[in-house]
Amino acid sequence: MTQKQIVIIGAGPCGLSAAIACQQAGLDPVIIEKENVVSAIYRYPTHQTFFSSSDNLEIGSVAFPTVERKPRRSEALAYYREVAVRYQLSIQTYERVTAVLKKQDGRFAVHTSKKSGENKAYDADFVIFATGYYDNPNKTDIPGEEQDHVFHYFHEAHPFFQEKVTIVGGKNSAVDAALELEKAGAEVTVLYRGEQLPDDVKPWIAPEFLSLARKGKINLVYDAHVTEIKKDVVSYITGGKAHEAPSDFVFLMTGYRPDHALLTASGVEIDETTGRPQFAPDSMETNVKNLFIAGVIAAGNDANEIFIENGRHHGPLIAEVIAGRAGGNL
Ligand code: FAD
Ligand code: NAP
Repeated sequence: MTQKQIVIIGAGPCGLSAAIACQQAGLDPVIIEKENVVSAIYRYPTHQTFFSSSDNLEIGSVAFPTVERKPRRSEALAYYREVAVRYQLSIQTYERVTAVLKKQDGRFAVHTSKKSGENKAYDADFVIFATGYYDNPNKTDIPGEEQDHVFHYFHEAHPFFQEKVTIVGGKNSAVDAALELEKAGAEVTVLYRGEQLPDDVKPWIAPEFLSLARKGKINLVYDAHVTEIKKDVVSYITGGKAHEAPSDFVFLMTGYRPDHALLTASGVEIDETTGRPQFAPDSMETNVKNLFIAGVIAAGNDANEIFIENGRHHGPLIAEVIAGRAGGNL
């Protein structure tokens, strides 16, 4: 087993921020990442613009200057790569953590599997989970969800030019995708189960979306409850009546939630209703001593509570506690 003081699982913005904070506290962290740095951002829609201004996405006090106030995905990818270089962070890429087990001596056995197929194990004093939620779309259990023309991620609109596309959901991912698809010449239907567009939809995209709906350029149906996805139609009920939306492709923009399997197996308690792990907000330590969480995984099932903006501040809280126990320089 390789000895490590701190293993951080996940090189998203909050895992990187935690690693920097630990380094600054004189500690010795390693990040283990199953893909490459900020892989969730890499998987955003290609032309995504952040809703945060760039200063709210900064970590490690590295400035993030951008031409426009709100950066694009590609600028954020370049920024976080640069931060990793500046701080010379130790990152084991393409290595998936498969188990974290608390040993009799109070340390952790962190088991991993590398892309090459090689299995490894680390012996760590402290573990920080920063595994995010973007790998796990909310499944709907709608019959037909698993077909090839049904997606949980939207990347680009071009393949859907002059195609009939149905989007399910009514928040930011659904509205962003609808705007981009309509602009690229797709025939767009949005089926939303709510009675009106929710307040979470950003005020700079909602007016254009609602205007396109009023003009009939986007077919927006409220109170729409999808019952089945077939090869070429989506069946739904609205106002007590059954309808069908002709659909070549379907985007289920129904959000994402953390996978708690690893955490639970490590002994962390999860609140069944909220999906929130048990942790102390002032230290981010879970009910398992020396096991911490950072970033969006702390939010449970509510995807609109923790963002990079606030999750980036978890690292310094954790570093302070670890430094106190491990004799760092804080
Ligand atoms: P993530 O960024 O999800 O990183 C988790 C990492 O852990 C991933 O790289 C993953 O590969 C890795 N991982 C997971 N499991 C394992 C394992 N078993 N072994 C090894 N590695 C593992 N937030 C904002 O603040 N402002 C915005 O403007 C904004 N815009 C957004 C736009 C879109 C389209 C979306 C989808 C989200 C947006 N967010 C925004 C939210 C933001 O992306 C998340 O809050 C942020 O990514 C959370 O960071 P994190 O480090 O907690 O997790
Ligand atoms: P979300 O905010 O969780 O919204 C999911 C939507 O799907 C909601 O409208 C929800 O309905 C609906 N839904 C969920 N389960 C459903 C089901 N089983 N059947 C039918 N409808 C269902 O997800 P998101 O829009 O993908 O956003 C995820 C995160 O990314 C958020 O943090 C968001 O802020 C962020 N984001 C940011 C940007 C940006 O920066 N520009 C763009 C996109 C996303 P209800 O409304 O009834 O709950």
